[in-house]
Amino acid sequence: MARPSHVKVDLQALRSNYQWACDLAPASKTMAIIKADAYGHGAVACARALDDLAPAFGVACIEEALQLRQAGISKPILLLEGAFTDDEVVTAAEQDFWLIVEDPRQVDAIINATLKQPVQVWVKMDTGMHRLGLAPFRLAELMGKLEASPNVAEGMVMASHFACADELNNDFTRQQIQFFHDHMPNKDMPFSLANSAGILAWPEAHGTWNRAGFMLYGNTPLNGDHPSNKGLTPVMSLNSAVISLRQVAAGESVGYGQSWTAKRPSTIATVAMGYADGYPRHAGTGTPLLVNNQRASLIGRVSMDMITIDVTDIEGVDVGSPVCFWGPELSANEVAETMGTIGYELMTRVGLRLPKVYV
Ligand SMILES: *Cc1c(COP(=O)(O)O)cnc(C)c1O
Repeated sequence: MARPSHVKVDLQALRSNYQWACDLAPASKTMAIIKADAYGHGAVACARALDDLAPAFGVACIEEALQLRQAGISKPILLLEGAFTDDEVVTAAEQDFWLIVEDPRQVDAIINATLKQPVQVWVKMDTGMHRLGLAPFRLAELMGKLEASPNVAEGMVMASHFACADELNNDFTRQQIQFFHDHMPNKDMPFSLANSAGILAWPEAHGTWNRAGFMLYGNTPLNGDHPSNKGLTPVMSLNSAVISLRQVAAGESVGYGQSWTAKRPSTIATVAMGYADGYPRHAGTGTPLLVNNQRASLIGRVSMDMITIDVTDIEGVDVGSPVCFWGPELSANEVAETMGTIGYELMTRVGLRLPKVYV
């Protein structure tokens, strides 16, 4: 029997989440963001599943974009951090990769390149997140340089990114939208502001293009209940099974560092899932998971390849019983919160050694 640990990916759910992003913003085009191996779901499989729906994809770097081209994906692909080197500008023009320009050096790299055909440019404005983006006072000058260059394709897009769109009561999002429109050098040009949180909760942020990432994978990025969460279905479930069972007496401890000690006679299940699979080592006793579809708790320390669960109160547990760490029945966001992180991090860190099962 093979090691039972695997990632299950529901591609039909992915498609319906994408469709929900489109339904929420019918006047916008929705780019599917599949960086970081589609947030751990497998970029090639996700791109193929969305290829007939999405007009373009977005990734973090050219290596991710080339992987998609090599797999036969022919749609435009936006490089969300732009070109890191001069060579990447040449490759982008050849491969129909769109370039974010967020720094004056990237402007120079594009206009000084020798290209066979022009490259599509998205100019990023820093509207207050202060991570990436051109300073507004330099926008007109730098856009002028780009517009005058034969290396730049028609139809530049103006873009920015939100710092707090997941916080439903934070007015900073509205301030960023206002700032963006106030500083657009050309009010008629195509623009793009909304990430998933913007699509779900801030209709005033919808633009020519929206950029849907986390929501495609079926969990909400919002920090509260919101009517638009209802259209999301989780795509990933992280699964394994019980590989060993034992009884321990009250007072006996389990695992590395003896960090958990039984207060009563207990049944302990050992499960093939560890930090080398991307399950965080800092997940503590009490982290929820499902054994035989019933909620149980992690106990003791996460090992490289295994964890232990107290199944004293769970019925029908045997070697082979299924264990789910997160999925449609237990939200990755809830699990992440008990670990002090967010669903984004859990998904993107799912280990490469886990086979993916697409359904
Ligand atoms: C990752 C990313 C997105 C998608 O964000 P989600 O919160 O996952 O929807 C959108 N835009 C940019 C620039 C990004 O880097």
